[in-house]
Amino acid sequence: MEVVTTKITLKVPESLNDGILLKNLYLSCDPYMRNRMAKPDRPSYVDSFTPGKPIIGYGVSKVLDSRNPNFKTVWGLTGWEEYSLITSPQLFFKINHTDVPLSYYTGILGMRGVTAYAGFYEVGAPKKGECVFVSAAFGAVGQLVGQLAKLTGCYVVGSAGSKEKVDLLKNKFGFDEAFNYKEEEDLDAALRRCFPEGIDIYFENVGGKMLDAVLLNMRLHNRIAVCGMISQYNLQQSEGVHNLFCLISKRIRMEGFLAFDFYHLYPKYLDWILPHIKEGKVAYVEDVTEGLESAPSALIGLFSGRNVGKQIVVIARQ
Ligand code: NDP
Repeated sequence: MEVVTTKITLKVPESLNDGILLKNLYLSCDPYMRNRMAKPDRPSYVDSFTPGKPIIGYGVSKVLDSRNPNFKTVWGLTGWEEYSLITSPQLFFKINHTDVPLSYYTGILGMRGVTAYAGFYEVGAPKKGECVFVSAAFGAVGQLVGQLAKLTGCYVVGSAGSKEKVDLLKNKFGFDEAFNYKEEEDLDAALRRCFPEGIDIYFENVGGKMLDAVLLNMRLHNRIAVCGMISQYNLQQSEGVHNLFCLISKRIRMEGFLAFDFYHLYPKYLDWILPHIKEGKVAYVEDVTEGLESAPSALIGLFSGRNVGKQIVVIARQ
């Protein structure tokens, strides 16, 4: 089989062994990709990108050729290129439900969805009536965590970096309260205003100054689910956290997690989330950028909050 792209011709070997040839449709821009640009000596749970090779990231792809005719559309780790020849197909999930936008498999129906679901339920272990705080709440993960918290009967507050996002958190996603962290001179005071009796669960997405302020506002014997620390990814050296002693004085359980440790929950999660999306019980906002050439700037935009919702890049729609 021969596939002609705009730039190159891929000659596919007669026997693909277990490899697959993909046409990439939607790419996901994700904060952790910044860490893959760091030097290999920096502590990380993923390998650094190889200079000269395409960037690797989550995406939705059409299967042009594989040994398994049942695989028509998949999501998983693919290249930032129009076509990818993949030799590790175990990294892909087959897409069975195509009556929802395929792009959703870069986010709410893919790795981001598992992140929010596992992080909130397995690590956060919420109970009805508890007070939940979510940072980077308008991001792909945060918007779902907030809605999960509401569906569980919690009081939920989110922080985000613009008035537009704050309004949408309250009016579209049903957060009880939200604030613009960029306009708050004193994050501790903002949290005290929103949580007069303290926070039971903090879903941590940003780290740094926000984490410090949260530590002061946690209630006794509660938990922090550490999903990410985006405020630190562009720094040469991480900022210090000053209030860690609160972990002891307030007996807080602070636990980091990685989505791929919870992929076994994916089928259960999918069965749960698909009807919620179709029935309009869970909302989802994407920020759609067109064309591979726009992908680098879309990725960079995550670190100033330019994205309004899950940032995706469309390479092709079919
Ligand atoms: P998104 O890419 O959807 O959104 C990121 C948002 O973070 C931006 O839009 C911006 O919004 C906010 N942000 C950027 N810089 C800062 C800063 N310095 N301080 C505060 N907020 C900032 O993010 P995701 O929802 O995909 O990811 C959220 C977090 O979860 C990240 O830390 C990511 O690394 C982590 N993650 C962890 C996973 C795991 O397995 N543990 C899996 C997936 C994600 P704003 O306008 O509000 O500033």
